[in-house]
Amino acid sequence: MRNNNFYGKGKNYDLHIHFDTHVGKRYSILDYALPIIEQEREIIGFVKHSGKPDFKKVLDFEVLYGIELRFPIVGHIAKGYDYRLAHVSDGFDILDLIDLIAKKKIDIIAHPLTQNTWCSDWEYLFEALLEHGIALEYNAKYSSDETLYQSAVNKGVSVSFGSDAHAPNESYCIIPKFVTPFEELKIGR
Ligand SMILES: [Zn+2]
Ligand SMILES: [Zn+2]
Repeated sequence: MRNNNFYGKGKNYDLHIHFDTHVGKRYSILDYALPIIEQEREIIGFVKHSGKPDFKKVLDFEVLYGIELRFPIVGHIAKGYDYRLAHVSDGFDILDLIDLIAKKKIDIIAHPLTQNTWCSDWEYLFEALLEHGIALEYNAKYSSDETLYQSAVNKGVSVSFGSDAHAPNESYCIIPKFVTPFEELKIGR
């Protein structure tokens, strides 16, 4: 039976769990096992901001490894990650960076609705995302405007899900219905 905090279709997934944290404490993948099991997640994407994908495979479910790159200053990208997220830095218009984002083979625009990130024309951005096959992330921490996601989905844009957990207890969250099934996301190209 489905855990009742997953309303989507397909596999129950979370593609934005931080393996490196901004705080002093570091968690291991094993620390995340309980929320993953309790929420019946089937695919987990662990994310780092930099370095090599030197995670250890210790859990018995599907794990992907992602890198969350800061735009516009991206820097070196280590090989071996399964997918890439774009974190648009404060004060930048996502639209201004979309060509660079596509060039860096980004799969997902992370948290497009943080307080200081903005987009001057969402409709135009949706078209660009469609053209490049990039998903928009519904981020459990910064995604209050559900109508925006609904209109993205209506235009055919993929909406991925990410808790943006920086600690195991932060990975408990509700996945809304309009999130694109994992099977339909184009992850890792
Ligand atoms: Zn971020
Ligand atoms: Zn993040």
